[in-house]
Amino acid sequence: MSPSKLPKGPLAGTHGVTERRRRGGDEALRLSEERFALAMQGANDGLWDRNFETDEVYYSPRWKNMLGYADDEVEHTLAAFERLVHPGDRARRLEAINAYFSGAAERYEIELRMRHKHGHYVTVLARATAARDADGRVVRMVGTHVDVSEQKRSSQRRAAQYAATRVLAEATTLKETVPKFLKVICDAAEWDLGCALVADPDGTQLRGFTLWRSLSVPAGDWEGGLRTRSYAPGQGLAGRVWATGKPEWIVHADQSADFPPEARAGGMNSVCVAPLVVGHRNVAVLEFYSRDIRPRDDDWFTMLASVNVQVEQSLRRRQMERDLEQAERKYHDIVEQALHGIYQTTPDGRIVSANLALARTLGYDNPDEILNFDGPFAERLYVDPGRRGEFKQQIEVHGSVRGFEARMRRKDGAVIWVSIDARTVKDERGDVKYYEGSLIDITDRKDAEQMKSDFVSFATHQLRTPLAGIKWLLELAQAPDLPEESASYILDARASADRLIRLVNDLLDVSRLEGGRLATSPQPTDLAAMSTEVINELMPLAREKNQSLVMEPPASLPAVLVDPKLGREVVLNLISNALRYTPAGGAVTVQMHSTNGAVEWAVRDTGIGIPAAAQSRLFEKFFRADNAAIVHTEGTGLGLYLVRLVLERSGGRVWCESKEGAGSIFRFTLPLAK
Ligand code: ADP
Repeated sequence: MSPSKLPKGPLAGTHGVTERRRRGGDEALRLSEERFALAMQGANDGLWDRNFETDEVYYSPRWKNMLGYADDEVEHTLAAFERLVHPGDRARRLEAINAYFSGAAERYEIELRMRHKHGHYVTVLARATAARDADGRVVRMVGTHVDVSEQKRSSQRRAAQYAATRVLAEATTLKETVPKFLKVICDAAEWDLGCALVADPDGTQLRGFTLWRSLSVPAGDWEGGLRTRSYAPGQGLAGRVWATGKPEWIVHADQSADFPPEARAGGMNSVCVAPLVVGHRNVAVLEFYSRDIRPRDDDWFTMLASVNVQVEQSLRRRQMERDLEQAERKYHDIVEQALHGIYQTTPDGRIVSANLALARTLGYDNPDEILNFDGPFAERLYVDPGRRGEFKQQIEVHGSVRGFEARMRRKDGAVIWVSIDARTVKDERGDVKYYEGSLIDITDRKDAEQMKSDFVSFATHQLRTPLAGIKWLLELAQAPDLPEESASYILDARASADRLIRLVNDLLDVSRLEGGRLATSPQPTDLAAMSTEVINELMPLAREKNQSLVMEPPASLPAVLVDPKLGREVVLNLISNALRYTPAGGAVTVQMHSTNGAVEWAVRDTGIGIPAAAQSRLFEKFFRADNAAIVHTEGTGLGLYLVRLVLERSGGRVWCESKEGAGSIFRFTLPLAK
């Protein structure tokens, strides 16, 4: 298009100064005017130019095109503009112009809604500058229009999403969340009306549930109708969205028979309808209405879908929290009503929780008294506070403790025996958070045991002297000139007396250990050297049964802390058992290695093994498994009991792994000498 055919543009107007210059034939100015005229046609911004002297307004083709009109479809008058601007924006615009003219505002810049040829509104950012005459009167105003509809929509979507997310942070149930949800989304995205319909649990009907109306929408009877709507699956717009799960958008109420007539009566013109999916079910339908015609915005659907994902997640999270709360409450009730004392303690000796049974066992009226101890509880509760150190050592090495026995002092000063089970609880980083476990009063059992061992101790003491006498007399009686038969009787009698003496000595050891009367002096001990000595001592026995007895020497081994005499008893007992309960020709292997803070020692045999049912009782006093009694009739069932007592006193632990007929492994740990 040649500049001469340009429409009557701003600089081709009747502005006095321009006219004079033009007449003067200023070539440079002419060129610049042509360039400006071209810009008016081609620029992406709509341009307008209002001459206050002639009251003419020029709108560029782009200005018109932004609103869907061809160049010749909008007349160049102010009235044309006033017809197109949203009625709700007219007053605001006048204010802005006046403020600019009077100098109260530095510039004219305003967002306006302009009606598109198709009926919807386009949001434009209008900016302008004024030219004034010598008296300061505005003679002309030139401005631009930029279409910012998409920016506006996208900021509304973001605002709606943000508002929805905030509501969801506090979401509890669907029915509680939906009304708030509807309100904030409508508010943020300038919808005039929001409705939610919720499906019946049996999925047969979708019913109006809640409605939100912007303050600018006058109330009316139509609201009741909207609220009480009800649809079968597929019926009407909402019923269809509910059934298909596909969102829909009606731009013109007039163009769709599905547009709810009640909303039409309320002045609504466009609607966006979207499903709300929870757990793969369309549980509700949301409707967003506007009075202005609102073109379909697929990004709005995308935003709603992503909010829906958040809804699901937060409802699921809430459900999980509720389940957890319930489980916790149940757990709490169980703990509170438990007969066993249940507690949590920190490694440094504070009690963090305790149930009623624990308080009662220790003579307190309620757990708070225990929780409020100041300082570590060991000094207050343990008769021998050092036992808490032994407990800690065991739990540090093994992660758990079972049947740890200790004497505790009740609130009234009475001393009771308790048995403690505990395990460590760690945080995500693997650091120990606390120990938790249970405690029971075993005073009665201990008293009975005490009576038993007092009796055994008394009886064995009484037996010792006459037994020594018998042995001594039998030795005397064994003269060289005795008839062969008598000599063999005496030999048998001596062997029996020896066995009796061994039994009596074992019993005495046990009762001393049990009563804590056996003086021990723990010292750094080399378990490997000790094992070698014991193995050498037992080698003749192994050879006699044609058994291999070997130790796999460890590369290096830190010293453990144990009373050397008692430690030796442990090793001797375990290796002798392995030889004893392994048939001729079998193999016995001793191994050891260091693990965190301890040495683990093991003896493995290829012997008769231990029946599953017997394994848990093996370390009890006098216990012998049935299969053992057959191969070796003379056992006492005291050896392993002694082993356990010694190891527990020394901060260690003993256990076995075995299968009947397939050999056994006995293992123990002893703490390192630090
Ligand atoms: P005793 O050997 O005198 O019976 P212990 O206390 O040493 O007493 O052992 C208790 C029981 O444990 C044994 O009677 C036997 O049933 C079982 N036992 C111990 N060591 C072994 C082993 N190495 N193989 C199979 N059973 C064993």
